[in-house]
Amino acid sequence: MKIELPENVKKILSRLESAGFSAYAVGGCVRDSLLQKEPKDWDVTTSAKPDQIKRIFTRTIDTGIQHGTVTVLYGKEAYEVTTFRIDGIYEDARHPKEVTFTPDLREDLRRRDFTINAMAYNEKDGLVDIFGGREDLQQGIIRCVGTPRERFTEDALRMLRALRFSAQLGFSIDEATFEAIRELAPTIRKVSAERIQAELVKLVTSDHPEVMRQVYESGLADQFLPEFSTMMKTPQNTPHHKYTVGEHTICAMQNIRADRVLRLTMLLHDVGKPVCRTTDPTGRDHFIGHPQVGARMAREILRRLKFDNETIRRVSAMVAAHDMRPPLEERAVRRAMVKAGPEYFPVLFEVSRADILAQSSYKQKEKLHNVDVHERICREIIRKHQALSRKDLAVTGRDLMAAGMKPGKGLGDVLDRLLAHVLEFPEDNKRERLMELASRFRSE
Ligand code: ATP
Ligand code: MG
Repeated sequence: MKIELPENVKKILSRLESAGFSAYAVGGCVRDSLLQKEPKDWDVTTSAKPDQIKRIFTRTIDTGIQHGTVTVLYGKEAYEVTTFRIDGIYEDARHPKEVTFTPDLREDLRRRDFTINAMAYNEKDGLVDIFGGREDLQQGIIRCVGTPRERFTEDALRMLRALRFSAQLGFSIDEATFEAIRELAPTIRKVSAERIQAELVKLVTSDHPEVMRQVYESGLADQFLPEFSTMMKTPQNTPHHKYTVGEHTICAMQNIRADRVLRLTMLLHDVGKPVCRTTDPTGRDHFIGHPQVGARMAREILRRLKFDNETIRRVSAMVAAHDMRPPLEERAVRRAMVKAGPEYFPVLFEVSRADILAQSSYKQKEKLHNVDVHERICREIIRKHQALSRKDLAVTGRDLMAAGMKPGKGLGDVLDRLLAHVLEFPEDNKRERLMELASRFRSE
């Protein structure tokens, strides 16, 4: 078995070896190489201790010295070089409380999560695969190294990692491994929101976001995303739909490109539906107001999972606007764009299409056609640079002050009225005309 190591990695390994240590490429890069995929980064594992690593390389960063990790800067790249280690007791199923360094590569491989992630490689020894990782790669199986229950008890995040790798690689999860996840799912509560978030994002932006179904079936969703479990249990008795809210959500995620904000938007676009659901006397379900309710819930969920403010703002704005259907004429479309936030166009049409394609065939052609027309009008508005916010006005607050208006609320109100005016009459967005209107508004 031969893996083509990058020049830098070869040099790092050979410098460690010349100093009398053993060293290997390890983990994700070996897995990806065997799958003929370009590894994102190359990690190195070595018998050298952190202080010894630091003596061998001139440019290093103490990334996680206490866990044995030193980042080596080599050329323009950075490589994590970690000492062979045995993980001690995991505190709260989170981090190993202490690690012990070991001269034995096998001990280091044993502490890793899955067989496919527990292989090492160098040119001298070739592939080191003591847990059958290569075979599991060939068969497409995610399997714990050792006893699943023990491994998930050490670090509960591994349960979600199993599903994340299954989603990224299109692999199935070994039966005993999945059983242990089902059993221990409640313990994921001990894991920090930040670590959960990182794995969830990788899962939903993967080629197989439908693995969210297993997140639900395993019981993990109940713990950190109970709103999704509720969606999976909410039927939609309406001609517009053929799936439960949850299955519709999964299908909508599959229908959109693997962009982080877009996938999160699809994950949460209908999160307000379960609480907004009413059933009329004919037995048909309605979900009135779900975009607004959903936007508030999305904000709460993303905040709880410690997402950054920018992501929270964007996703919740798109959830709020996902079902906007203004009359298909310029003026109404302009108003709708202002209401949703002009920056979400035309991207929001990707959301609409993904949503509609996950619904039933009832009126589907008509709905898609309306999105096309809506988008055409919207693009025309953008092309013509029509004003959609204060900053698009042909006058600024400064212009108004130069004409004698005092700064403050009054001035802001005049600007808002000017914007409302040009939303109705875009052709009036000219300096002279607006100054004239401003002095009229001021004297009213
Ligand atoms: P990616 O391509 O997503 O980075 P990766 O396999 O490199 O995948 P990382 O999270 O970067 O995943 O971890 C690097 C390696 O460290 C893994 O391949 C695995 O061997 C080990 N590892 C990471 N996290 C854990 C964990 N929680 N428990 C046990 N081993 C882990
Ligand atoms: Mg990695």
